[in-house]
Amino acid sequence: MLGVRSGHYSRHVGDGRRGSLSSVFAHLLDCLFPPSCAACERPVADSRLGRLCPACSESVKRIVSPLCLCCGQPFDGPFGTDHVCGRCLSSPPHYDRARSLFLFAGPVRELVHRVKYVGCGHALRAICSLVKEDLDGRDERVSGLVVPVPLHPRRLRSRGFNQSVRIAQGIFSADRICVDLVAKVCDTRPQTGLDAVERAGNVRGAFALVRPIPHGIRRVTLVDDVYTTGATVSECARILKKGGVKEVHVLTVARAPISSSAVAPSVLFNRLNEI
Ligand SMILES: [Zn+2]
Ligand SMILES: [Zn+2]
Repeated sequence: MLGVRSGHYSRHVGDGRRGSLSSVFAHLLDCLFPPSCAACERPVADSRLGRLCPACSESVKRIVSPLCLCCGQPFDGPFGTDHVCGRCLSSPPHYDRARSLFLFAGPVRELVHRVKYVGCGHALRAICSLVKEDLDGRDERVSGLVVPVPLHPRRLRSRGFNQSVRIAQGIFSADRICVDLVAKVCDTRPQTGLDAVERAGNVRGAFALVRPIPHGIRRVTLVDDVYTTGATVSECARILKKGGVKEVHVLTVARAPISSSAVAPSVLFNRLNEI
């Protein structure tokens, strides 16, 4: 459960308001609604929105090498070199490379849920801060056009926003983001609970190009909140490449651990061969 208390939530929805308040009024606001951690709501000394408490900050798990050069899957243990995992060797995805920055666990999982299901601006700011700080510390640079993974219009209407668009807007400049290039044209059933094969089948044909790829665009970076099996981003990449994009990268905030139920038997066999 998200456990979002209404008092804290209502204060954090209006992100930019406090910048224009006088310091006296801001202090009064801090007394009435003490600043809280964006993930666990414990009080924090830092009153800037989108901050995490020390305990949550320490428990954010960054994804680092060794990992799969293609899908970004982290390998167990701190030793070894990056290589292409068995899953990508046996069933290469349509994208060229995917990178997720954090494990989908603890405070990151809480933040993503708050953004996705509650539309919490406090949590959104925390996610974007984490991502920007993390990208600054990595060699990799996000290049090309940024395309947030689209929602089906029906889902968009019921949720009221696309969390991937909000995340992309919090990280990248507006002139790099394109939200009307790819559309989700089939209202697929939720991927949760499906295995890898079912997930791929569920999204096959679910996306379409809305218009031709803009002239001169060779590379696109797809942005999404969570990577599980990669079926959705791989299908988006297939559509983009069919339309003429030469290279598709994927950037997600978090990566969910692959459970045995979400991995096809052949993939499990390949993973055993990696050990
Ligand atoms: Zn916290
Ligand atoms: Zn891989």
